[in-house]
Amino acid sequence: VNASMAKWWATELQKRVADRCLQLHGGYGYMSEYRVARAFLDSRIQTIYGGTTEIMKEIIGRSLLA
Ligand SMILES: Cc1cc2nc3c(=O)[nH]c(=O)nc-3n(C[C@H](O)[C@H](O)[C@H](O)COP(=O)(O)OP(=O)(O)OC[C@H]3O[C@@H](n4cnc5c(N)ncnc54)[C@H](O)[C@@H]3O)c2cc1C
Repeated sequence: VNASMAKWWATELQKRVADRCLQLHGGYGYMSEYRVARAFLDSRIQTIYGGTTEIMKEIIGRSLLA
């Protein structure tokens, strides 16, 4: 359960941070030539593979009822 909590928190945070970095870089942040665009793309999958955020929530929710 702790691992699910950590994955939910860390991956959603990574997504928010990468989004803010892209915003900071403006249009350059969107262009694939720039590393921030790659970081944005790579951050997006983190809340999907290895168990989606929704599944993490389900695991945590189930543990609260147990
Ligand atoms: C680049 C990449 C690498 C991968 N590598 C591996 C690997 O090495 N080994 C491996 O085993 N798998 C791997 N996967 C698969 C990955 O684990 C799955 O993509 C992940 O588990 C999500 O499953 P899904 O894509 O079938 O989405 P789905 O299960 O179809 O989910 C689609 C959406 O519905 C939501 N959803 C699904 N069920 C529920 C529910 N009960 N309640 C609420 N919402 C729900 C999900 O949260 C998601 O938003 C990889 C995937 C990618 C994209």
